[in-house]
Amino acid sequence: MRTGAGNSFTFAEMYEQAHEVYMQRCLQLAKLAAGNVAPNPMVGAVLVYNGAVIAEGYHQKYGGPHAEVHCIAEALKNHPDKISASVLYVSLEPCAHFGKTPPCADLIIQHKIPKVVIGCRDSFEEVDGKGIAKLEAAGIKVIVGILEKEAIALNKAFLLFISMAVLMLL
Ligand SMILES: [Zn+2]
Repeated sequence: MRTGAGNSFTFAEMYEQAHEVYMQRCLQLAKLAAGNVAPNPMVGAVLVYNGAVIAEGYHQKYGGPHAEVHCIAEALKNHPDKISASVLYVSLEPCAHFGKTPPCADLIIQHKIPKVVIGCRDSFEEVDGKGIAKLEAAGIKVIVGILEKEAIALNKAFLLFISMAVLMLL
């Protein structure tokens, strides 16, 4: 780890760029599911240890395990000892509710992942910030809004569907 006075701005910028590189990979992974997960959102996730991607996952089919579940399962197979020292990148806010699968936020907390970087918040009313709040309450550092526009565009149809459902409730 590099430290020292005067270079903190550059250091922050460097971090920002790294976040974008890993988030880009999440978006690529998410797109692998095009056509298979609607009306669920397309989501990709990667786990990064010391700058290297040690596991990847995406939401493969409607009603199936979420991206985070696939990603953590892969890490458990190959690098179980590194999970609690890794950063999880995920294109959409992890869920906090019991749907067809248990909440991903709980899974992340259970595996003691210290930091989670999120593309965009999930406007689905069962999530809508609750996933982020749950992670933060467990002491996890959460960063939201990396490649946010791209992350939102990826699930425009899904997010539109949610907005319309909300409007109809009003
Ligand atoms: Zn989930």
